[in-house]
Amino acid sequence: MHTSVIGYPRVGSLRELKFATEKYFRKEISDKQLQNVAIEIRKEDWITQKNSGIDFIPSNDFSFYDNMLDTATLFNIIPKRYSSLKLSALDMYFAMARGYQGEAGDVKALAMKKWFNTNYHYMVPEIEDETEIKLVGTKPFDEFLEAKEYGITTKPVIIGAFTLLKMIRYTGSKAAEDYTDAVISAYCELLDRFGKLGVEWIQFDEPYLVYDLDKKDIKLFEKIYKNILHVKGDIKVLLCTYFGDVRDCYKNICTLDFNGIGLDFTEGRQTRDIVKSNGFPKDKILFVGVVNGKNIWKNNYKNTLAIIDELKACDIETVISTSCSLLHVPYTLKNENKLSEKYTEHFAFAKEKLVELEELKLLSETDYLSSKLYHCNEKLFEGRPECHNTDVEKRTAKIKDSDFIRLPEFSERESIQKAKFDLPEFPTTTIGSFPQTSDVKANRTAFRKGNITEQEYIEFNRKKIAECIKLQEEIGLDVLVHGEYERNDMVEYFGEQLNGFLFTEKAWVQSYGTRCVKPPIIWGDVSRSKPMTVEWSVYAQSLTSKPMKGMLTGPVTILNWSFPREDISVKECTNQIALAIRDEVLDLEANGINIIQVDEAALREKLPIRKSDWYSEYLDWAIPAFRLVHSGVKAETQIHTHMCYSEFTDIIKAIDDMDADVITFEASRSDLTILDSLKENNFKTEVGPGVYDIHSPRVPSVEEIKTTIYKMLEKIDRNKLWINPDCVLKTRGIKETNESLKNLVLAAKQIRDKK
Ligand code: GLN
Ligand code: ZN
Repeated sequence: MHTSVIGYPRVGSLRELKFATEKYFRKEISDKQLQNVAIEIRKEDWITQKNSGIDFIPSNDFSFYDNMLDTATLFNIIPKRYSSLKLSALDMYFAMARGYQGEAGDVKALAMKKWFNTNYHYMVPEIEDETEIKLVGTKPFDEFLEAKEYGITTKPVIIGAFTLLKMIRYTGSKAAEDYTDAVISAYCELLDRFGKLGVEWIQFDEPYLVYDLDKKDIKLFEKIYKNILHVKGDIKVLLCTYFGDVRDCYKNICTLDFNGIGLDFTEGRQTRDIVKSNGFPKDKILFVGVVNGKNIWKNNYKNTLAIIDELKACDIETVISTSCSLLHVPYTLKNENKLSEKYTEHFAFAKEKLVELEELKLLSETDYLSSKLYHCNEKLFEGRPECHNTDVEKRTAKIKDSDFIRLPEFSERESIQKAKFDLPEFPTTTIGSFPQTSDVKANRTAFRKGNITEQEYIEFNRKKIAECIKLQEEIGLDVLVHGEYERNDMVEYFGEQLNGFLFTEKAWVQSYGTRCVKPPIIWGDVSRSKPMTVEWSVYAQSLTSKPMKGMLTGPVTILNWSFPREDISVKECTNQIALAIRDEVLDLEANGINIIQVDEAALREKLPIRKSDWYSEYLDWAIPAFRLVHSGVKAETQIHTHMCYSEFTDIIKAIDDMDADVITFEASRSDLTILDSLKENNFKTEVGPGVYDIHSPRVPSVEEIKTTIYKMLEKIDRNKLWINPDCVLKTRGIKETNESLKNLVLAAKQIRDKK
């Protein structure tokens, strides 16, 4: 029996890559110094896997920003606006990732989207009609050779040609078919180069295969791989899939000349049945994805070994594998000193999952029923301490259908609210957080470490809030926010105050580029013991006569950005959270906060991969959970929500069904593609599609914003349009934020006055 890892985290166990890259952005370190940090991280990651006895260790899973972007640059899929900047290779790469504004020019970044159903974001490559796809980079080869120097023969990992072609944006008149031949020859050349370097196995990641596929897709896949596999020579090719099952193409992939096929037995609901009923080809090895790359609970050896045994009984040659890249879990429990063992013994992060792979390998080769290791593992699943709260369980059981409905209905509320708030046409607002400068973070850290008193901590934040409000008033925004200086993270902040959550110190997971998140762990039943945000919001409202938005995170996002329980359903868990947030909404309202934003940034994230499951498996409870949060407020209380970084067009009706009064969206980063579907679906909720991208330090001009607003007005009723940035401001600098917001307000005013 052998073990395999699909991919390993790459930001460094203490986020070394993040810090070094950010220093590089600030020009504090050189290209060479940044490369050296990367070398150290790769070395440590490889050696950790080697020392854990992993047989198939990945390379080229490292990235300075994103693997999709790496693949695009590897194959020369570089829009002219970047190549013509004439920057160094690394700087051009970062320009594609973050946009560029400097001596060489002024360009926006590539679009960024959520990677399947994860909270990882990839850069969407763009192909122009003139793009010539060819192998131009050396990263995968360099990293293979680098690992060799440590005596490790890795399995290079590349995003496969099919997934690449399917996920690219075609900005010209050509489509995937027009590039298939070029892509095939580029991948053939890649294989050829790897062959010369002595590569034994290569892994092509083709997660796109777990989506609903039609005949044309399958034909494209077959065409690509018939050609590529034809030239593989001595290299063994592993086709790797994850995040679901491959029900539409299992038979097709089995007939192709792959040496290994990786299937997800964790998230792929039908994987086990598909293999059982169709069998598995004798000439191939099945990489069995059983160690969950997305959650942090210990592997249930009993269940896993049952799968392995079943496959063995069918005479299938197997390798035990992770279910997907371990990129989606934190590095190691070794960095956690505060969590007691009664909790941590239930967890496995990336490094501990390597141990699990090894233990499973060992157990699968022995008569495990008599093994102590096996029984210790079995015991963990008999129950966990401090997990159940009968009050919470009773309250969720009592939820009625009418609790999901807010009255009066939207149109009546809309006129009541227009009269009450009397906002100008195109009201301006922001999404919530203002720049989290180092003093803001230092204040939180000092308080957490006990270096300052609670009073000092509060005073500092109050000062910040006051400054933030003064700034917003000067700029002339209409609906204000308090700036969220007290929040480390929009989910962690609430999790910390709710019962049922556990927190880690260093369990960071990459979200995009240099940004990492530290998801809390939902350990037990969730409840709220006291108000969480009321004091800050009330203080902020006391400083201004303009409306102050209360700012909360919605239940679906809290769930999706946490590591969820696996012993109760996600629906039940979300309803528990929804009730806790509902209590907070009602408290804010009772304390004079008339506009309350409940962010559902991550609503789409756990949307099932298969369209046929969207409603029954997810939206049918996720959307009601949001309504449960606000169905108890008065007609004149205005409920906002906000969403970002994903495709919304196909779930637009479900979003309207959340029955919020106003929704702000990320729109500019994705070229306003949302507008058409708002119009087509007669979207009732008032909308603020972002008028500029906040993931880039560039400042949009008044004219640029006006052009954007005019485009919006072609599709959106002017009485429903709000003006705001795409998303949060906390990651931006003060200067660019102020300038951008000034331009935003000016643009809105100029259009208003033109009437
Ligand atoms: N109100 C949150 C903030 O501004 C929204 C976060 C988000 O959209 N991801 O930080
Ligand atoms: Zn956002």
